[in-house]
Amino acid sequence: MHICATKQDLRRVLAELRTTGTIGLVPTMGYLHDGHMSLVRAAQAENDHVVASIFVNPTQFGSAEDLEKYPRDMDRDLAMLRDAGVAAVFTPTPDIMYHPDAQTIVETTDLANKLMGALRPGHFRGVATVVTKLFNLFQPDRAYFGEKDYQQVAVIRTMVRDLDIPVDIRPIPTVREADGLAMSSRNARLSPDARAAAPILWQSFDMARDLVATGATSDEIKSAIWTMIDREPLARVETVDIQDAITLDPITGPIDRDIVILLAVTFDPVLLIDQCVIPAQKDLT
Ligand code: AMP
Repeated sequence: MHICATKQDLRRVLAELRTTGTIGLVPTMGYLHDGHMSLVRAAQAENDHVVASIFVNPTQFGSAEDLEKYPRDMDRDLAMLRDAGVAAVFTPTPDIMYHPDAQTIVETTDLANKLMGALRPGHFRGVATVVTKLFNLFQPDRAYFGEKDYQQVAVIRTMVRDLDIPVDIRPIPTVREADGLAMSSRNARLSPDARAAAPILWQSFDMARDLVATGATSDEIKSAIWTMIDREPLARVETVDIQDAITLDPITGPIDRDIVILLAVTFDPVLLIDQCVIPAQKDLT
């Protein structure tokens, strides 16, 4: 496996790989788990070469503390990618990634600032900008992203459409622990008690599915989820959003189309997000 610390290295390795087939990119911030590896496996099924990046992107973090505390384990990550058969991995530092006078940003103006974007101002601008840079550096045929970060996938799809970036965006279902908690690098920062309580997010989706089946409205489902999670003393609900699964527009009233429930819950100081798509009830459409 090629480990590329600089853009020059990366470009050289990619030019070579490209002569022998298609390239699938898996961008990550490291501290890898099976969710990331499911993206790698999906990429392997569809491409001749799989390449990855490990970069904790400072511009998408709201606070210096959150950035600093983000878990890291480069040696273990590289071993996992090597064992999986990844061809090359890009491991830049922020100084290598960003020009000291960088002044260009990419922003999906509407999508970036609502829902999770309203909770984390600047976050999706940081994501869109770094992913654009990664697409320009790797020029992959396909790029793989987790549906867990549902709004992120929407932002990247919109940006690729609007800027005519020639890459096929492939969303991959969320991989969960046995108790339903979505795998996340941030889970490592949960206290044992918070870790035990965190599957409440997943349990609230079960309840929401039942409520959709009984014809509940969006407001009723939202308030039932809010109440259920609020009962857990370690959890602080930040947002519960019920949106059109395709457009991410808000849904009011009965559930007459496919919806996505977007949850953001803090188990102090760790912000967890999760999502669940629920298909429209046939007798309402
Ligand atoms: P991150 O390292 O958290 O930026 O994640 C890198 C990529 O892995 C993103 O596209 C995430 O959506 C995806 N990812 C993270 N956790 C999971 C999971 N539990 N299941 C599937 N994909 C995931």
